[in-house]
Amino acid sequence: MRYPLCDKYTLTKQNKENRYMKSNYKAELVGVFGHPVAENPTVVMQEAAFQHMGLNWRYLTIEVYPEDLENAMKGLRAMNMRGINLTIPHKVDVLKYLDRISPDAALIGAVNTVRSEGNLLIGENTDGKGFLRSLKEDAQIDPAGKKAVILGAGGAARAISVELAIAGAKEITIVNRTAARGTELADLINSKTEATAAFTEWNSRYAVSADTDIVVNATSIGLFPDIDSKPDIDNQSLTREMTVCDVIPNPPHTGFLREAELRGAKTLDGLGMLVYQGAIGFKMWTGMEPPVDVMRRALEAVFL
Ligand code: NDP
Repeated sequence: MRYPLCDKYTLTKQNKENRYMKSNYKAELVGVFGHPVAENPTVVMQEAAFQHMGLNWRYLTIEVYPEDLENAMKGLRAMNMRGINLTIPHKVDVLKYLDRISPDAALIGAVNTVRSEGNLLIGENTDGKGFLRSLKEDAQIDPAGKKAVILGAGGAARAISVELAIAGAKEITIVNRTAARGTELADLINSKTEATAAFTEWNSRYAVSADTDIVVNATSIGLFPDIDSKPDIDNQSLTREMTVCDVIPNPPHTGFLREAELRGAKTLDGLGMLVYQGAIGFKMWTGMEPPVDVMRRALEAVFL
């Protein structure tokens, strides 16, 4: 890897006089706090983007134990870092260490990206936005007026449901194993957005209603190493009129998507969501347009 160390990195004999110009050896710092975090691949796509853009920025993958999050956030401020991603288990706990929270992150109740603006730390959630952009740009689907079924009611499901509702989805059915989480999410959508939501308890094989436009597996079923696991769905209920999506990025071509393909459905994998949530974060931090193709290729090299 070659990093642009400073603006005199390529100093030649012809411009020796530049040696006396002011240098800047200080990199701008961003990264991710998580536990466990060693297998988080975000560094690969963000570093690829920084290099492609010639930016002297670094993305650090940092192990932060739950009891150390407060000190880690103080450290972020003390070291004037430009921002941070939060992953398991910090996405909710981080809220109490922020100065402001964006309206959709407040609705979702979780933050996966923090950006610093002057002395302020501002919390955002780019997970649902990344899904929405992938739905619109990769699958060419506009959710406005559509009916969606979301499998799961955890962090990813909350982010996706809220962003679908904000984008004008008409009806959202939350299907979840644990009733309390599913009911809470359906209540949130009904009380805070224009969409109509219903909850279905997932205690037996679930058949997707034929008038559904978008189906999303927002559970962790199918994630490496459990790559043969599939959501307990009546696969015959998936049709060619539906767009079937999975949030699992590793491996992206899940068993669930393979079943949907067999029934002629349009499918969308979780790699696009991961790329776009990172690309949105890149723009929040740097203010620059992200090189999305470079970021996608970097992740594909990891997962495909
Ligand atoms: P959470 O732990 O918050 O939620 C997990 C959800 O999956 C819950 O609804 C849980 O149900 C459900 N679930 C898990 N196992 C089963 C099972 N065997 N049967 C039925 N339901 C099950 O996790 P997150 O929402 O944060 O993450 C979910 C997935 O999304 C992860 O695999 C993660 O990798 C992926 N993700 C992908 C992103 C991307 O950019 N592509 C971004 C963020 C996440 P219950 O409530 O009953 O426990």
